[in-house]
Amino acid sequence: VRDFAPEGAQPHALGARAILRLAVPVPLRRLFDYLPPQGLGADDLCPGQRFLVPFGNRDLVAVLVDVVSESPLAELKPATECIDRQPIFDARSRQFLQWAADYYQAPVGELYAAALPVALRKGKPSDHWAEQWLELTTEGKGLPETALARAKKQQELLQLLLKTGRQSRTALNARGLNSTVCKALIERNLAHWVSGPTAPPPLEEVEPQAAPELNDEQREVIDAVPASGFSASLLEGTTGSGKTEVYLRLMARALARGEQALLLVPEIGLTPQTLRRIAARFPDFRIAALHSGLADGERARAWLSAASGVADIVIGTRSAIFTPLPRLGVILIDEEHDGSFKQQDGVRYSARDLSVVLAKSADVPVLLGSATPSLESLHNALSGRYQHLRLRHRAGNARPPQISVVPTLHQQLQEGFAPQVLRHIGDTLNRGEQALVFINRRGYAPALTCDDCGWLADCPHCSAKLTLHRRSRHLRCHHCDYRMREVHSCPQCHSRNLNALGAGTERSEDFLTHSFRNFPVIRVDRDTTATKQALDKLLEPARNGEPCLLLGTQMLAKGHHLPKVTLVVIQDADGGLFSADFRAPERMGQLLEQVAGRAGRGDLPGHVLVQSRYPEHPLLQLLLNRGYGAFARQLLEERKIAQLPPVRAMALVRAECEEPRWAEEFLANARNYLEALAPSSPELQYLGPVPALLERKSGRFRFYIQITADKRGLLQQLLARFCQWAEGNRNRRLRWAVDMDAQEL
Ligand code: ADP
Ligand code: ZN
Ligand code: ZN
Repeated sequence: VRDFAPEGAQPHALGARAILRLAVPVPLRRLFDYLPPQGLGADDLCPGQRFLVPFGNRDLVAVLVDVVSESPLAELKPATECIDRQPIFDARSRQFLQWAADYYQAPVGELYAAALPVALRKGKPSDHWAEQWLELTTEGKGLPETALARAKKQQELLQLLLKTGRQSRTALNARGLNSTVCKALIERNLAHWVSGPTAPPPLEEVEPQAAPELNDEQREVIDAVPASGFSASLLEGTTGSGKTEVYLRLMARALARGEQALLLVPEIGLTPQTLRRIAARFPDFRIAALHSGLADGERARAWLSAASGVADIVIGTRSAIFTPLPRLGVILIDEEHDGSFKQQDGVRYSARDLSVVLAKSADVPVLLGSATPSLESLHNALSGRYQHLRLRHRAGNARPPQISVVPTLHQQLQEGFAPQVLRHIGDTLNRGEQALVFINRRGYAPALTCDDCGWLADCPHCSAKLTLHRRSRHLRCHHCDYRMREVHSCPQCHSRNLNALGAGTERSEDFLTHSFRNFPVIRVDRDTTATKQALDKLLEPARNGEPCLLLGTQMLAKGHHLPKVTLVVIQDADGGLFSADFRAPERMGQLLEQVAGRAGRGDLPGHVLVQSRYPEHPLLQLLLNRGYGAFARQLLEERKIAQLPPVRAMALVRAECEEPRWAEEFLANARNYLEALAPSSPELQYLGPVPALLERKSGRFRFYIQITADKRGLLQQLLARFCQWAEGNRNRRLRWAVDMDAQEL
């Protein structure tokens, strides 16, 4: 029985004076007091409602956090109006948002704003999306499933209502049960309309699909996750080992108890394919998908249906972690290592890390799954903080792929490909199978230079080169999106000897199309897949099993299950070996393992060819010979020796400014301030100010100081003090931010 009465919406019982304490979306780390709007009594006030409030010369949408009777301020302004009759944030989500604001040193009002979908952030009343629901009458509930046999549509509707209790008008329409059918039941006094909360936008109709029989490993994993109560588990399961099946079973378990399931996926993981798989498994449940492809109104509907407890399953990308879920029963994080779970600007938070905090406060299990766990989660699992679960074998008949290295130094390469690699691709296609070529760079070439004077096409706003995009005849900056028309002569010496250096996906597409004329070449990168639907459509021939050559960036590395891909080529494995970022090898290992994992996921055996200039490099050797698991454990040892995260807590204080001197000066002062509070010691270390890896971006120079500490608590206290100090030192032209558990340098 799935009931959706909003939980514990208790009006505040107070005496004569009620003061609203509100989270206002401004960059200040505090709450703001207002008087209730004219004509609103204390009985109408519920924390979790939105109010329109005057702030400076604007009206802002704020969220009521508390109702109090005293304020330190003598003069209070009244709020302009109350937007929601019912609160839209329940008590637990308010507590969770406050926790996150404290942990990430974020202004709490901005965090509330980040939690809301745009339409609600702008102040549209939630009543706008109220729904009509069709419910059985007592008489209707008394009928057997076999009743109404002479009217097929009416019987279908009756059976659906008997099974699910009630259905929204939108959902019924989406199933082809229109108002005539509903009317027929109503006229027989078997059903009636009631008005109720928002229902999620209906998904594409799919054929229901039964669950496969679990294998022993999967069953052990599922049994090891307690059905209720808080627990955190890491599921380290090789690619294709059936992790998704484990998520589906854990979801089913929560749904059977009348609870909501939350599944977080990486940005590029929320594809129509993923949604179809879940919809096919749970045809009778209400699924809310929160993704960027939705129009504002649809997204608000999905969000409200989750927040009111109507949606049973909520699938979303990182910001979905802030959606109130009053019946939450389990949290699942797919591809937990994925960088998109970390928000890199504005309110900087990690949805992956927060999922464990949320699970604890809701007292429910959380499972983090990946074939290539982050060192953070692996560290937590190996030290016993998380339960460590493994799936070592591929599900069904699939075998692990066979990996070989192809040295590229001193080889005659053709457009970056070794001859034997091209031969393998040809053989694969001729056998009627599919090959996948991974190139981690979109565009035609990553650099354009003049062979006569050495001119190099740079971005005028960033410390970065421009990428040549031949298809659109542009030079483009991948950091700030600056564009200029493609040039055919050198702007400096007018020579026509311009040289495009290196290869991106467009260039390789040209070459491979030319080399394998009889087969379709499908290029998948951000330029060919402006929408999720476009990606789905692009991959259609591959899903149909026709021989074809897939070529693309890391968009191809995740999530896709293409059983006919038997050869994977990694064109250049060396990217992460020599970076200044200590996380680069970890990311490289994850990417290579994930790409390699696309090979041989069906009944046919898979091969992976890895091109490298440094085939003897010990990290590459370890990764290719012993796999990501051994590789990651080695990296973790190195992080211990270097006293870097995840062994230590790390935060960055960032500053950026058009004038580099000011950013550096601000951070030097910041460091002095911090060191006066807590001098550096073996337990607490400061580094910087130093320039960020990308020193200049969009015309602003970027610097940071790095603080590492043995204890998170100490770091927290320091950063809280720092934020107070920095809020008082306002310089309009300088932007600063605290980046707790920073992922990028
Ligand atoms: P992962 O998420 O670990 O990459 P999936 O859950 O997508 O793996 O499973 C890979 C393939 O194996 C899918 O086609 C899935 O349907 C299939 N599969 C998963 N579990 C089983 C099982 N117990 N028996 C048969 N096939 C399975
Ligand atoms: Zn020149
Ligand atoms: Zn730029």
